Amino acid sequence: MSCDALVLAAVRGLTPYQTGKPIEELQRELGLSRVSKLASNENPLGCSFEVVKACRDVLEDIARYPDGAGFSLKAAISAHFQIDAQGLVLGNGSNDVLELIGRTFAGAGDEVIFSQFAFAVYPITVQAIGATAVQVPAKDFAHDLMAMANAITEKTKLIYIANPNNPTGTCFGQAEWDAFMAAVPQRVIVVLDEAYTEYVTQTDYADGLRELSKYPNLVVTRTFSKAYGLAGLRLGFAAASADVAGYINRVRQPFNVSSLALVAGIAALSDQEFVAEAVAVNHKEMRLWQQALTMLDLSWIPSQGNFLCVDMGMPALPIYEALLRQGVIVRPVSAYGMPNHLRISIGSDEENMHGIEALTHVIKALRAV
Ligand SMILES: *Cc1c(COP(=O)(O)O)cnc(C)c1O
Repeated sequence: MSCDALVLAAVRGLTPYQTGKPIEELQRELGLSRVSKLASNENPLGCSFEVVKACRDVLEDIARYPDGAGFSLKAAISAHFQIDAQGLVLGNGSNDVLELIGRTFAGAGDEVIFSQFAFAVYPITVQAIGATAVQVPAKDFAHDLMAMANAITEKTKLIYIANPNNPTGTCFGQAEWDAFMAAVPQRVIVVLDEAYTEYVTQTDYADGLRELSKYPNLVVTRTFSKAYGLAGLRLGFAAASADVAGYINRVRQPFNVSSLALVAGIAALSDQEFVAEAVAVNHKEMRLWQQALTMLDLSWIPSQGNFLCVDMGMPALPIYEALLRQGVIVRPVSAYGMPNHLRISIGSDEENMHGIEALTHVIKALRAV
C-alpha cells in the first residue's frame, strides 16, 4: 500500500527544494577529477581558522547536550551587532529560523506574501504549514515592495522578503523600504532575510538590524553560511523584539543548534578580518566574471550577493548539462520560473577560471552550429 492517501494534502503537493549537485556525485557519475562547484553560494575561502580551533576544542565535550539557550553565542551576537540578546532566536541555519517564524505566526486560512523569484524556502514553508501563498509579481526581477504592501488583506499574517534576494541578487534601498514599512500595518509580521548583507556595496542599503527599534513587527534573519563560511555547520539567527523572539523560541526544538555550531559562531564573529577578505575576494572575482560575460555577449541581473544570475538568451538547461560535462556545477533556476537563466556562485580564482573557460567553450560551441 502506498502512503499517498495518508499524507497531508499540502505536503503531497510539495516539490522538494533543489540543492546544488554535490561535487562527489558529479565525480562519481562522469569520472571527472577536476570539479568546480559554483552552485550553492558557499564561501570559496572556507572559514576562519579560529572556527576550526574552537571546534577542535569542543569535540572533547561532544557527549553533552549543547546549551539550549545558546547564552554565550547570543551574548557574542548581541555585542557584535549591538542588538538586544533577548530578541534573538538561534537556528540550525537561517532556513530553520525562517520556518520557525512561519510556524509561529501562520497556519491554515492565513495568507503569507512573498515575491516572484524569491528564495524557494518561503513557498515551501508556507505550503508545509498549510497557509496560503500569495506570490506578488516582481519588477525587473526585483521585489516590488509597494505591490507587496498592496497585496495585504485581512488574512495576511506574514511577509517574507530577501534583501539581497537569491537567486536574482537584486537589492532595494532605504527609501523603498521606508515607504513599504509605512504601508504595512503592525499586525503583519515582516521577515527581512539578510543572508547576503555582508556583500552589499549599495550605499543606500537598509540594514535591517538598525531598523528593529522602529518596528515591533519586524524580524531580521542572518546566516553564518555565506560570508562567515559555515554552511556545513548550519547556523543562523533571527533578531526581533524580545516579545516576538520569545514566541518563536517556544516553537523551537530545545537543541536545534549543535555545540559545534555554538562555539563556531562565536569564533567566526571574532574574526572580522576573514569576513572582510571573503567580501573583497568576492567583489574582485565578480568583476572577472562580468568581464567574461561581457566578452560572451551575455547579460546578468545586477547582483549585491556572492553570485550572478546570468541570462543565457536561450533555454539554459542544455548549457547547465554541458557545463557539468566540463566539471563545472552551476545552478539552474527554471524551478523559479527563470528557464533561460543560470545562477553562478562566485568561487575562488581557480574555480572561476575553470567556470569561465568551460562556459566560453560551451557557448562558442552552441553558437557555431
Ligand atoms: C543561503 C541563503 C540563506 C541561508 O540559509 P542557511 O540555512 O542559513 O544556510 C537564507 N536565505 C537566503 C535568501 C539564502 O540565499
